[in-house]
Amino acid sequence: MKKVLVLAEVRDGQLRNVSLEALTAAQALAEGGEIVAGVFGADAATHAVALGQHGASTVYTADHAALAQYTPDAYVQALTQLIELASPDAVVLGHTAIGRDIAPRVAARLGYGLVSDVTSVEAGPVFVRPIYAGKATQTRKFVDGTTFITIRPNNIAIGAADPSKTAVVVPVELDIKDLRTIVKDVVRKTSGKVDLSEAKVVISGGRGVKSAEGFQPLNDLAEVLGAAVGASRGACDADYCDYSMQIGQTGKVVTPDLYIACGISGAIQHLAGMSSSKVIVAINKDPEAPIFQVADYGIVGDLFEVLPLLTAEFKKVLV
Ligand code: FAD
Repeated sequence: MKKVLVLAEVRDGQLRNVSLEALTAAQALAEGGEIVAGVFGADAATHAVALGQHGASTVYTADHAALAQYTPDAYVQALTQLIELASPDAVVLGHTAIGRDIAPRVAARLGYGLVSDVTSVEAGPVFVRPIYAGKATQTRKFVDGTTFITIRPNNIAIGAADPSKTAVVVPVELDIKDLRTIVKDVVRKTSGKVDLSEAKVVISGGRGVKSAEGFQPLNDLAEVLGAAVGASRGACDADYCDYSMQIGQTGKVVTPDLYIACGISGAIQHLAGMSSSKVIVAINKDPEAPIFQVADYGIVGDLFEVLPLLTAEFKKVLV
């Protein structure tokens, strides 16, 4: 039986789904032991109910001015102190921008090993993670010492909430000092209606959209499906959209239930960011485009004709 610490993430006041997925992974790691969670920020305690119902027996909350906006300096100090306080056998974070940034820093600082970008936890425990841009999977196991993992969003199904379970809330005083960076302001580049890395449906545009305005039919379909809109690097390089939308090896990795690729050729670097999607639909006017090799459904056609038709049909059933 092990004690597992999950660092929960809050974004725009909402607990991120990946934090509940991390609690599910923690149950496999705890083997009947204790699961505790940590949350930073002014409204941290408001998330204790959800964290408790998903398995955390204790929720450590830390409110500190330096934690209001993410900085590696402050978060590394905070997580290190939380680990020293909770003394877990295993630590689980989401493989998010924050998790990817602090997990290796804290693991190195404490002398722990780290398995990052885990897509499933199997008996052992054995951790499964994609390698070579998703072309192969690797299984890894900790021989001894503290287990430290980050999990890829949208891969581990969230366990059912148990309303009878509650967590004890423990406010923690952190000693955060010697900060080298202070965030003064955050400017969002995307509308951020649906978070790309956690979206259940992603519609992406490539160079085939031909202009910034060419994203409009994708936005229209996204509105109807409640989807997030992404892009290939080709579209970003051509200045049709912001790099925050880029999916792929050097962009975001997404694993939605449905990925619709529009005017994207299917270069290996793009596939690295989306090939684990559960269902892939490709719309491309070139029947030889490599994207069709990974697609479950392919539509050979002009995206400017196909997308309005799809939007109109979905509107009939969904709106
Ligand atoms: P193209 O390859 O130009 O394809 C455009 C497609 O649109 C074509 O297949 C065409 O048939 C189709 N099309 C055109 N008009 C229409 C229409 N009206 N209707 C339907 N279809 C149409 N790329 C990424 O995406 N993500 C990454 O993270 C990434 N990282 C990289 C890292 C490195 C080190 C390198 C070298 C490259 C990386 N790339 C990445 C770039 C990648 O190799 C490709 O160049 C890029 O993905 C191509 O983008 P695209 O598919 O939009 O453009």
